[in-house]
Amino acid sequence: MAKKYVRTIPKRLRQRTHSDGDGNQIHNEILLSLPRGERDIVFSKLEFVRLTSLQLLHEVGDSIKSGYFCDSGMISTLNVFPDGKTIEVGLIGKEGFLGLPLVVGFRSSSLRANVQIQGSAFRIGADALSDSLVRCPILALRLHQFSQVMTMQVAQIAACNRVHEVEERLARWLLMCADRAGDHRLPLTQDLLGQMLGTRRASVTIAAGVLQKAGFIDYRRGDIEILNKEKLEETSCECYTIIRQQTEKWRSEST
Ligand SMILES: [Zn+2]
Repeated sequence: MAKKYVRTIPKRLRQRTHSDGDGNQIHNEILLSLPRGERDIVFSKLEFVRLTSLQLLHEVGDSIKSGYFCDSGMISTLNVFPDGKTIEVGLIGKEGFLGLPLVVGFRSSSLRANVQIQGSAFRIGADALSDSLVRCPILALRLHQFSQVMTMQVAQIAACNRVHEVEERLARWLLMCADRAGDHRLPLTQDLLGQMLGTRRASVTIAAGVLQKAGFIDYRRGDIEILNKEKLEETSCECYTIIRQQTEKWRSEST
């Protein structure tokens, strides 16, 4: 990460506001949910960083030096096979955190994590997170809750990749991306779509063509716009709704 993109969070943010010294709002829902006392502890350890498209944040087997509270954009976690093939198993937006193994004292990553949609995050060092977790029970609770959400999401996506057609999966994936990125315009190439869905590029091209012809999306080179979310939801397999409803149910149960 280039040094110029890194800055610590000003003291006044830590004490009373939801935006940094340059006026950038904090959108990460875990950070926003912390009580004031915990914000004072946690915010002092965070660095605001830009996330650039396709930036590698964690690699399989490597030690995890930092966790990321995603603030905008989207991060993907990917399963990597020995032949280099990848398939996406998790999506993280402003609702979440990358680096969950750290929460339970593990220091290496079983997955690759890439930035798929550029944005920003609040980064925390592994030791700083460990220290914060001891002192901040709500932070620990929120991260354990998010771990459950990711486990549920990974299980559903694994089943989805096995049983549902590429067109349904593409619709599901675009909807999940849009929800997490908070935008109906997604800077995504078809090469990337193929990698994410574990599908040949040609299959993704055909599926994207069907969705475009129906008027549900507009696809231009490296850019997809969702034109009709309702119809895209109808096209998607049920996995999109299952993940969304279970996440909302748990959120409503959360103390
Ligand atoms: Zn599915």
